[in-house]
Amino acid sequence: MSASDVNTEHPLELETPRFSVKKPAVRYDKQGEVPDAERVKRAMQNFVRDFGRSAAIYMESCVHCGNCAEACHFYATTNDPKYTPIWKIEPFKQAYKREYGPFAWFYRALNLKSAVTVERLEEWQELIYDSCTVCGRCSLICPMGIDIASLVSLARHGMAKAGLVPHELWAVAERGEKEGSPLGATPKVFKDRIEWLADDYEVDIPLDKAKADVLCTMSSIEIMKYPESIVATAKIMKHVGANWTFRLDGYEATNFGLLSGNADWQRDMSMKLIDAAIACGAKTLVLPECGHAYGALRWMGANLYGKPLPFRVVHIAEFMAEHVKSGKLRLKKVGKSVTFHDPCQISRRGGAIEAPREVLAALGVELREMEPTKGLNWCCGGGGGVVTIHRADALRYKVFQLKMNQIDDTGAELPVTSCSNCRQTFDDGQAHFKWDKTMNSLLEMVAHNLEGEAA
Ligand code: SF4
Ligand code: SF4
Repeated sequence: MSASDVNTEHPLELETPRFSVKKPAVRYDKQGEVPDAERVKRAMQNFVRDFGRSAAIYMESCVHCGNCAEACHFYATTNDPKYTPIWKIEPFKQAYKREYGPFAWFYRALNLKSAVTVERLEEWQELIYDSCTVCGRCSLICPMGIDIASLVSLARHGMAKAGLVPHELWAVAERGEKEGSPLGATPKVFKDRIEWLADDYEVDIPLDKAKADVLCTMSSIEIMKYPESIVATAKIMKHVGANWTFRLDGYEATNFGLLSGNADWQRDMSMKLIDAAIACGAKTLVLPECGHAYGALRWMGANLYGKPLPFRVVHIAEFMAEHVKSGKLRLKKVGKSVTFHDPCQISRRGGAIEAPREVLAALGVELREMEPTKGLNWCCGGGGGVVTIHRADALRYKVFQLKMNQIDDTGAELPVTSCSNCRQTFDDGQAHFKWDKTMNSLLEMVAHNLEGEAA
C-alpha cells in the first residue's frame, strides 16, 4: 500500500498557536498478501514470545499515575490522551492479560480483555510508530521504573511479523537488508564517495586495511546527505594519529531493522559491523553521529553476538572526548555561544551525556544549556523512524516547535548535536518553519577547528 492509497480524516486537530499545519491523512499500511486472521496470529505469537520476565513485571506494575503523559512530547504538545505512553502499549498489555498473565484463563473466560483484532492493530500502528520516537523520556519519569520505550520496541517486533509497519519505514528497512544500506549508500556508492572526497579535500581516507586498531563507521544520512562527515572523521583520525580504516564489508551503522521491528534484519546489520571489526582486528569500533546506531551496537551488540564483543564500541563524541583528555586532540577556540541538543539514544538512553560537553569545552564555546537538558532534554521528534513516515509529518512539526522554542530560549548563536538523524529532522523543521537556526554537527565543528590545520 502506498501513502496515497487511503485518505480518511485524521482525528487530530493540529492547529498550532505559532503556525498552522495541514491535517495529515490516516492510512494503515500492510506488507504482503496475508489474511487478517493470520496477521493477528503472527502478532500475538510474537507478543507472547517477547513477554519475558521483565516485560511481564512491567505489565503488572503500572499504578496509572499518569506521570508518563507529561513526559511525552506527543502528548505534551497535543493533550490527546491517545498519545499517553502507557496507552501506546495497551494492545500489547491486552495480549499479555489474555494470553500470558497469571490470570489469563480468567480474562479469557469472562472476556474481561477482548481479543486483539486486526483493526485494533491497524489503529495501533500510528501509536507505536508515528507517535513514538522511542526516546525513553517516559521510561525515565515513570516512578515504577517501567521502560515503556523498550516495550514499544518489543511491540514493534510483533507488528513487523504481522506485516503492519508504516510503508516508508518498511521500505528503507528492506532496502537496508537487500542493498546493505537503507538510503542507497551501497558499498559501490560509499567507495565512490570516499575516492571523490579524498580527492576534493586532499585527505587520506583509508579503506579496507587488513589490520587496523580503529574501525570507523558512518550512517546512511551522513554518506548521502552530509558527506563532509566522512572527511571530518578522516581529518580527526589523522590528527590523533590513529591506525584506522573504513571497510566495505562493515561501514553502515544505520539499523532500520531495529526501528521497523524486524529483529532478523537488525541482527544482519549489526553482525556486518561486528564481523568487519573482528576481521581487521580492531580494538575499537567507532560509531558515527547516529543515535539509534549507538543503541543498536553499544547496548545490544553483545546480546546479538551471544557473548562479549572482542572490541569496545564508542560513539564518535566519546572518541573525541577521550582524545581531548589524552591531549592528542587539540582544538582552536571557537568563541561563540552554543547550545547542545542531546540525541535521545546517545544521552538519555545511551548514557553518553558528558562526552560532547567535554569536547565543546575544549572548543572554548560558551555552553548555554536548554531547559530541561541532558537526560531530560526534549526529543527532536524525528527519531525511532518517525522522520521517514510522511503521514506523521504534521504531528512531527507540531512537536518540533517544542524544540525550536527550547533552543530560541537559550539565545545561543549555534545549536549543535551529534546525531545525523536529529540533524536531518532539524533541517527539515527549519525549512518547514523558515526558522533562522541551522543545526550543526559536533564532528564537523571539531574537524574545522583542529589546531595546526586549515579549516
Ligand atoms: S518513548 Fe518517548 S515518544 Fe515514545 S511514548 Fe515514551 S516519551 Fe513518548
Ligand atoms: S508513569 Fe509509569 S506507573 Fe505511571 S501511568 Fe505511566 S507507566 Fe504507569
